[in-house]
Amino acid sequence: MPKFSLELNEDQLQIQKWVHEFGVDVIRPAASEWDEREEFPYPIVEQAAEIGLYGWEFMAEGMMGDPTGLTMPVAIEELFWADAGIGMAIMGTGLAAAGIAASGTPEQVMEWVPQCYGTPDKLALGAFAASEPDAGSDVNGYRLRAVYKEAKDEWTLNGTKAWITNGGIADIHVVVAVVDPELGSKGHASFIVPPNTPGLSMGQKYKKHGIRASHTAEVVLDDVVVPGHCLLGGKEKLDERIAKVRRGEKSNSQAAMQTFEATRPAVGAQALGVARAAYEYSLEYAKERHAFGRAIIMNQSIAFMLADMATEIDATRLLIHRAAWLGKNGKFQNAEGSMAKMKAGRVSVWVTERAIQILGGYGYTREYPVERWHRDAKIHDIFEGTEQIQQLVISRAISGLRIE
Ligand SMILES: Cc1cc2nc3c(=O)[nH]c(=O)nc-3n(C[C@H](O)[C@H](O)[C@H](O)COP(=O)(O)OP(=O)(O)OC[C@H]3O[C@@H](n4cnc5c(N)ncnc54)[C@H](O)[C@@H]3O)c2cc1C
Repeated sequence: MPKFSLELNEDQLQIQKWVHEFGVDVIRPAASEWDEREEFPYPIVEQAAEIGLYGWEFMAEGMMGDPTGLTMPVAIEELFWADAGIGMAIMGTGLAAAGIAASGTPEQVMEWVPQCYGTPDKLALGAFAASEPDAGSDVNGYRLRAVYKEAKDEWTLNGTKAWITNGGIADIHVVVAVVDPELGSKGHASFIVPPNTPGLSMGQKYKKHGIRASHTAEVVLDDVVVPGHCLLGGKEKLDERIAKVRRGEKSNSQAAMQTFEATRPAVGAQALGVARAAYEYSLEYAKERHAFGRAIIMNQSIAFMLADMATEIDATRLLIHRAAWLGKNGKFQNAEGSMAKMKAGRVSVWVTERAIQILGGYGYTREYPVERWHRDAKIHDIFEGTEQIQQLVISRAISGLRIE
């Protein structure tokens, strides 16, 4: 097991520089346009695929080939520093890949993860569909049902998913469904819905506050039939797990939870990238902008704001890197992933709001990017577990009690 180190290794430094340069050259110049268009930025994602930033090999190397766990947070911070909407368009497929990796057999991972990304010539997208219109935080409330027909070895899925990144435009949908309604979240399983499967369609596309270049929509499944091998983990394992739960034994494989647990430090890194963008921009602005015959940074009220912003950003990065390292090495103790994600969301919202304050009237207009960063920051308090759900997870971990 590698020692935790604050120093990035050569590979990580190179990846950091590579993503940063792509951010400066390609993403930043396009960010405002795609935010206004509120459309999935296919040309930018294609360019990311051409250089290997969008692709299963990069995800596999970042997630599996790095024993420190820090490569992905470092890359994601740079990507979201460039733009969170386009960043999410590039990273959204990773949720599907993480869902497959969390529940699938090695053969299923090899079969489906590359199909989620496609190739630079023929881009594909993946979506991870867990949330439902009446159940986001409360995973016990999922209703989308999967029913097995033994004679045909196939599953039929019916129901609606809500708020799904790449929902309905994805080639591969990973869908969390109820297979045993009596068992709450322990009766869930994840399924692959392959490309062009009849019965899967896009419902409403949401018009959002931020990350508007990322596509978010409902996904409707109406008698969607998938073959038995599309059940992630396989039927035998599912039957064993259900039997175990029914006997009252502990089961640690709750499909959706596993995916979210593994991705929390990465989501924190997204929020951190947005915060750093706003901090850097407002620091430079404060040095340039003059009022009362001096640069506004010469006022302690502005300079101390920037000092607090820098401190909070660095504290957040330390929490994220610690969580990524602990997660990678199986050493989570007190929900450190949730701590990092919660802190990052809060800091990102706060720093981007302070950045608007530092830019004054200009900060409030769409002429300057800080208002977009403020809108983009907020999602990190909401998706992949809201701020309150992170508090719940942390309070349960530190107390050992079933806090409600
Ligand atoms: C842009 C975007 C992209 C998304 N992408 C995906 C995706 O790709 N896949 C996917 O499956 N989902 C996705 N989601 C859904 C997201 O994960 C949910 O919105 C989130 O989990 C919250 O669920 P909810 O919206 O139903 O809110 P609710 O669960 O209804 O929560 C509403 C409020 O009540 C609070 N609350 C709820 N329960 C408790 C409790 N026990 N204690 C204290 N407070 C509580 C919450 O913190 C929140 O403040 C996305 C959402 C958005 C907005």
